[in-house]
This record gives sequence, structure tokens and C-alpha cells, in this order.
Amino acid sequence: LTEMEVRALRRDPDPEVRREAHQVLYGKLLAEAPTLSAVFNAVYLDYLQDLRLRGYRHPLEPVALRDEVEVRDIEALLEATRAHYGLVEAYYRWKARRLGQEKVASPDLLAPLSREKPKVPFAEAKALVLEAFRRFSPQVEEIAREFFERRWIDVYPRPGKRGGAFCSGGLPSTHPYVLLNHTDDLDAAHTLAHELGHGVHFYLARRQRLLNFGASTPLAETASVFAEILLDDLLLEKLPEEQKTLLLAERVEDAVNTLFRQVMYTFFERRSLEARREAALSPEAFHGIWQEEQAQLYGEAVEWTELDQAAWAGIPHFVHYRFYTYSYALGYLVVLALYGKYREEGEAFVPKYLEVLKAGESQSPKEILAKAGVDLASEAFFRYGFGVLESWLKALP
Ligand SMILES: [Zn+2]
Repeated sequence: LTEMEVRALRRDPDPEVRREAHQVLYGKLLAEAPTLSAVFNAVYLDYLQDLRLRGYRHPLEPVALRDEVEVRDIEALLEATRAHYGLVEAYYRWKARRLGQEKVASPDLLAPLSREKPKVPFAEAKALVLEAFRRFSPQVEEIAREFFERRWIDVYPRPGKRGGAFCSGGLPSTHPYVLLNHTDDLDAAHTLAHELGHGVHFYLARRQRLLNFGASTPLAETASVFAEILLDDLLLEKLPEEQKTLLLAERVEDAVNTLFRQVMYTFFERRSLEARREAALSPEAFHGIWQEEQAQLYGEAVEWTELDQAAWAGIPHFVHYRFYTYSYALGYLVVLALYGKYREEGEAFVPKYLEVLKAGESQSPKEILAKAGVDLASEAFFRYGFGVLESWLKALP
């Protein structure tokens, strides 16, 4: 099996398969840790030299420049997220109870909570997504409907077609396309909502010029994840009790992986980079920093094994980019904050949200988000964002 296949088996419904996948993956990473430490030490040193030669005052400065945010916005995001680590521990305590465990054993971190996935044929997925969009804004539904009617979506898998799903924005003078590999289940319905969210974003941003058409990193997944949440809102009204619980748990787990874990990665990266200023780090030093950061995030809710200490070595972002993972966290929290605003303001929020999408990349993320009353530097930003997450957690039985 390839690494990706083994990684996927960590979500297998069979606990034995999960244990074996965990053993194989992290056992291998632990064995390779000496080589990977050398790689990390080299790329960190290179980055530190770069910072010095280019006169950067802060290790996050190049990233802040790229994403058009302030270093202090990133710092505030990291600290605010860490201050909410308790939500992660609370969720895994709940998951442990569901799995009948005292603490979640680390090979079960990604364990699915049900073996069955509801069937959702494409026609039904389409109807659900359009209804979810209509409840938010008839204009958004109208745009999404055009994708179906004008055949801008390639729906099913077939021989020779690439896998996955994405939305190609096209050009301001053309229109977006969506590629799917629809599999008639609930995940595929979410994928449809996600890609149509991108589609609506590109569609509305067409009023921009070629160079401003698109979305900067912090806003790149705004419309797509927002669309998924709109679909969930509808599903939470329609699904039977048990399915509802599973859907909510999935939402929270998404937040753990997209927001909290990415922040934990950033702390790991920052600490190990700082340590690299003094001297090269041994594999044990990397293990140690990783274990400390991991323990902070999950608290007492997870039972770790010796193998887990090497997980840092399997995260390609640490080798290929510097401080990339924080941007997943920022993007996700932006969506939650926008959604929190929508929940509070209702219909009055909709035109402001559409202005955000129409802006494309024509201004900085800060200026664009100001159109919807969201200020990255404010305490309210975090209150709205984490407030949504708290409400999902509270709704778990
Ligand atoms: Zn996306």
C-alpha cells in the first residue's frame, strides 16, 4: 500500500484495521525520524538565513506579507485558538464515551462513529443543495441552478477521468466549471455544496479584472465551507436523531482537524524553528516538542502510544513551506465568524456576504471582510467564530 492508502485506513470502520494502519504509518515515521530530522534541520536553517539576509524582523513576516494580514493577526489567532483547546478535549471525551473507552486510544482518533452512510443520489443532493442555498439567498440559488441547467458540472466518475473534485474559476469573461466524482452518499452531497460554493464565489467575482479575480489565501475556502454549513443546517432539520448526532460530530471533527490541529502544527513549527537558531535538533528534540504540543491540544482525553511522537515527520507542509498550516485555521475561523454573524443578523447579513464574494481579490482580506462587519483583529471575531463551534458541541447528546 502507498502512504496515502495507509493514511486512509486510519478511518476504517474495523478497529483492527485502524490499529494496523497506525502501527505501520507511525512505526515507519519513527524509523525514518533521524533522516527527516536532518531534512527539517536543513530547511529550517535555510529559512533562518533567508529571514536574516532579507531583513525580516519576525519569522511570520513573509507569510503575513503573502496573505496580506498582519503578524499580530496571526499571533492573535494562534493564542485565541489555544485558549479554546478545551473544546477539543471536551469533544474527545464525548467520542471516548461513544466508542465505549475511558480515553480515546490514539489509533481511534479518526474512527468513524457509524458504519453506515446515508444514500443520497445526485438528484437528491442537487435538490438539497439548491434548497439550502435558497433559504440563505434566492440569488445564490439562482446562480447555482445555472450550473445545472447550463451543464457546467461533470458529475460522475468514468474511465480515464481524474479523481477528486474541484471548481475551476475560468476567466472573468467566461464562467466557472465544476468537476465531481459523485458517489451517491452524504459526503458527495457535501462535496457538491462545497464546489458550488466555490462556483458561486467565482461567478460573483467575475465583475473583477483578471488579476483581481480569485480569492486570497484566507478567503479561498470561505464560500465553499460556508455552503457546506448551509447544507448542514438544512440536514439537521431533516435527518433522524441519530444521523443528526453523527453529522454534528463530523462538523466538530472537521473543526478539530482544520482549525485546532493546524494551529498546533504552527506552534510546533515556531518552537522547533526557534530552537534551530541555537543548534540542530535531534529526533528526540522534535519528538519532545511534538508530544508537548499534542498533549496541550487533547488534554487528558486521548491515550497516546510511543509511536505518536513521530507524527511531525509525516507532515509535508513542514518541509515544503514555512508556516502554511496557520492559513487553514484562519480560513476556517473566518467562515465560522461569518456564519456566526449570519445566525445573529439573519437576512440583513446576506447582501454584505455577497459583497465579500463579489470583491474577489480586489482588496486585502481585512478590507473585504470589513464589508460583512468582520474584523480579524477584534475580540468579536473570535467570539463569533468559537461561539458557533461551542453551539455544535453543546448540541451533541
Ligand atoms: Zn475547496
